[in-house]
Amino acid sequence: MDIHRLPALADNYIFLLHDRQRNRAAVVDPAEAKPVLDCLETLGADLVTIYNTHHHGDHVGANRELLAKYPNLEVYGGVEDRGRIPGQTVFLRDGDRLSFADREATVYFVPGHTRGHIAYYFAPGSGETIGDLFCGDTIFAGGCGRLFEGTPAQMVQSIDKLRQLPDQTRLWCAHEYTLGNLKFALTVDPDNGDLQERFQTVQGDRQRGQATIPSWLGTEKRTNPFLRWDNPAIQARVGMAEPARVFGKLRGMKDNF
Ligand SMILES: [Zn+2]
Repeated sequence: MDIHRLPALADNYIFLLHDRQRNRAAVVDPAEAKPVLDCLETLGADLVTIYNTHHHGDHVGANRELLAKYPNLEVYGGVEDRGRIPGQTVFLRDGDRLSFADREATVYFVPGHTRGHIAYYFAPGSGETIGDLFCGDTIFAGGCGRLFEGTPAQMVQSIDKLRQLPDQTRLWCAHEYTLGNLKFALTVDPDNGDLQERFQTVQGDRQRGQATIPSWLGTEKRTNPFLRWDNPAIQARVGMAEPARVFGKLRGMKDNF
């Protein structure tokens, strides 16, 4: 399975999964149709599946247009998003399994950003060591999604599930927010050497116009404050220790950053 990263709208990424053997494609969170159709044309591939993480317009915006062009498309999304994802045909629950190309994926129910949000984890292929996590607006590189329909406690539980996945997992999040996220992260975790180093790298990448996605889950565990509610330095910084309170405090600070 090849993964193509397609920039869309102002700062979204669409991910196109390509099964080279059967020359079929799937697309994760198509914000708009044109980049998807252009990529399909370049590859000469047929689109068979949409994987949606949640119902927001910048994730499902092209569902209808793609369905019009590929009427047999399967449109996957969470069962809690029934009625909110255009054209949805498959209603997924936590722990459901699916497969694409040579890879098997597990669905994680991760409410918090929205009440129906799911993530797709593709375990490493046979003989490989690297997994791929499509997490929508749950974890961002250096940050996390806003809590539009969920509580800090829910988001902690959701992120904690994803945090259990191996370090060698590529994190394909849906937005290029990394530099801004790391600027905030440095204000709450200033003595973290890994974070300082990451900030320098990302700053250089962005100055050269390079994407910072995918990142590694291992990197997020070491440097993203929204995966580090149990880190003593961060707990001391915000003056609390209970996971949901630490997380809620950090999220509130970031909302006003
Ligand atoms: Zn969203």
